Amino acid sequence: MLVPLSKPDITALEKKYVMQVLSSGQLSFGDKLRRFEQCFCDTFGVSYTAAMNSGTSALHAAVKALGLQAGDEVITTPYSFVASGNCLLFEGVKPVFVDIDPDTFNIDTALIEPAITPNTKAILVVHVFGQPCDMDKINAIAERHKLFIIEDACEAIGATWKGKPVGTIGEMGIFAFYPNKQITTGEGGVLLTNNERYYNLACSLRNQGRDPGSDWLTHDRIGYNYRMSDLQAAVGLGQMERLHTILGKRARAAARYERLIAKAGLPVKTLKPLPGSTMSWFVFIVKLPEGVDRMSVIESLAQEGVQSKPYFPSIHLFPVYRSLYGYQPGDFPVSENTSERTIAIPFYSTITLKEQAHVIKSLGEALKGEK
Ligand SMILES: *Cc1c(COP(=O)(O)O)cnc(C)c1O
Repeated sequence: MLVPLSKPDITALEKKYVMQVLSSGQLSFGDKLRRFEQCFCDTFGVSYTAAMNSGTSALHAAVKALGLQAGDEVITTPYSFVASGNCLLFEGVKPVFVDIDPDTFNIDTALIEPAITPNTKAILVVHVFGQPCDMDKINAIAERHKLFIIEDACEAIGATWKGKPVGTIGEMGIFAFYPNKQITTGEGGVLLTNNERYYNLACSLRNQGRDPGSDWLTHDRIGYNYRMSDLQAAVGLGQMERLHTILGKRARAAARYERLIAKAGLPVKTLKPLPGSTMSWFVFIVKLPEGVDRMSVIESLAQEGVQSKPYFPSIHLFPVYRSLYGYQPGDFPVSENTSERTIAIPFYSTITLKEQAHVIKSLGEALKGEK
């Protein structure tokens, strides 16, 4: 049995919308893009949504919209996908990493305040794997020190903290739509905000620096081509209309994994939602016991047709972060230890109980072989 790591959930609805765009002749800035963006405002209760060609582009636009620049510092987590650090490097902003909580894998809120300096301008939180950060604590710190909050909610669409959707709590929030995310547009992202100025800046930055309403060949600032096409928006609109269904399927699949792991008595740790929060399941992560050779576990899973991946390496140890800021092994021991022990196992909304049972049986055998 072959079980892939992830798989998009595309139906006739998305295909219908794509065909409508192709027939309309308007492939950019058309009706589907407008409706896709409106769907986020309606679903998440924000005033403005700007769609872009990737989550990374939307993060970059958020950093620029806040006016962050060389000399500024932003506090963030090393245990994330590299884009949440790179969006700062793009602007010469220093990512000041602090270690993570060993249970939630999210930024350890107790370590944020000691890392604040006169140059600190913002906190960039990542709701890693769809688990919300403790936004009460982070909001309080941001308020005390007058810091902006950017929420990298790329892995957490639909997750809530105390009933509030993540991505709508900070100045700006970002969702992403690469094919392994909860919903996909092939490639894509959105920036959500209630601030009109940030929204207008984001729209200008994604569109070659044109101000909203400017003539097509008027460029008011340095901008980028970060636009999302209407073909992508058509896929996204279908996905958004099915968001609730897709998230429900993922939550049920996660619950099935929890039951299978408990029944097999596997000595692995999994993510449990914090009290007061609901998770949105992005990937399913298991933390292997200390001392287990992870690569040999991944290897034996592969022999059973089960795809898995080490998830995530700690960002501060990538060469560019070491050479620019002198980060080195040992700086963030919890993040590094977590990076060495976590793997993602197959997870998608259409995964079957049979496939999941095969994954857990193979994982059990792989761990037994390890002892
Ligand atoms: C997916 C993701 C992004 C954005 O990725 P893109 O491939 O650029 O859409 C950013 N941050 C995190 C934490 C992510 O998981």
